[in-house]
Amino acid sequence: MNLRKTLTLCLAMFAIGSISAQVKTINNTINKDSLPEDAIIVKRVPLESGESFDPKDVLVVDTIPSSSEGLSIVLYNDNTWRYVRNRAIDVLDETIYTQNWDTTKIHAYNVELKDLPMSMVIDLVDTLKSYHYPVKGRVTSKYGPRRRRIHQGTDIDLETGDPIYATFDGRVRHTTYIARGYGNLIIIRHDNGLETFYAHLSETNVKPGDWVTAGQVIGKGGNTGRSTGSHLHYEIRYKGHTFDPERLIDFTTGTLRRETFLLKRTYFSPYSRFTQDFDEEVQSDEEDKKIAKEAAAIKYHIVKRGDTLGRIAINNHTTVTKLCQLNGIKKTSTLRIGQRIRVR
Ligand SMILES: [Zn+2]
Repeated sequence: MNLRKTLTLCLAMFAIGSISAQVKTINNTINKDSLPEDAIIVKRVPLESGESFDPKDVLVVDTIPSSSEGLSIVLYNDNTWRYVRNRAIDVLDETIYTQNWDTTKIHAYNVELKDLPMSMVIDLVDTLKSYHYPVKGRVTSKYGPRRRRIHQGTDIDLETGDPIYATFDGRVRHTTYIARGYGNLIIIRHDNGLETFYAHLSETNVKPGDWVTAGQVIGKGGNTGRSTGSHLHYEIRYKGHTFDPERLIDFTTGTLRRETFLLKRTYFSPYSRFTQDFDEEVQSDEEDKKIAKEAAAIKYHIVKRGDTLGRIAINNHTTVTKLCQLNGIKKTSTLRIGQRIRVR
């Protein structure tokens, strides 16, 4: 069973009673009293890679609505199922896939480094945003200066034909073939605002505009382009600027290093490498602590049947005006069951 998209999800069990045995109510991060009686809370194992799937191997046999409008449950012919975001409803930040959205070229942004904020908080995974390593293996070349060139990504060893997985949920922005460079390249833009690049592929299974899920097979590893030996050249970019992918992913174990990433402008430099010697960790410890404290103070309410902004405000000792400010909504906005409202 595929439980990978399922932190704090309310699930109407009548539809698929057979999976109830697999589900445990072990989440303690949200207030259970705020959920409908039939809700079941499923904890996603943090940071571990989720399950993978290849759309070529399975057929969709049915789609079942969940108790949240923004989510459907899709059943496959191999008896697996997964949550699929209804993107017409559940869009976290619409501008991600409209602004600087160019399917015709590699570089879609034209943002200068000095125009980026000094630091930004990126939620890599949360309720619906899951994670899967692109490929698991030995790092053969790190991000940073390499002879006279700058290596903009991380190289990971693989065998030609090994599956390559989408790292996070998102949409394919561009695919191309560059004989003297990337070879077969796939670029995916993610809900969290990052873009990931997968290069030297022997095969690509997706095209620009395709929505992809974390763990979905998007192609096969190879040795195309400027490459000696099969490997994945993997980049992570924010508004066009690269930083060391090893800051986020331990490619040897395949795990994500953190759920929330404090991306600092100083990282966008080939001389800023992820290191395990903790110098930098200590240096940024104070700042991270401050941000963690702020993050810990944040509280959410999951909308249940009959909720109004007024009632949520009273129950959380706040005001409707404050709720509107925190969530960027209007007093007249319609609440959806399952919607996450920030209350503090
Ligand atoms: Zn490389």
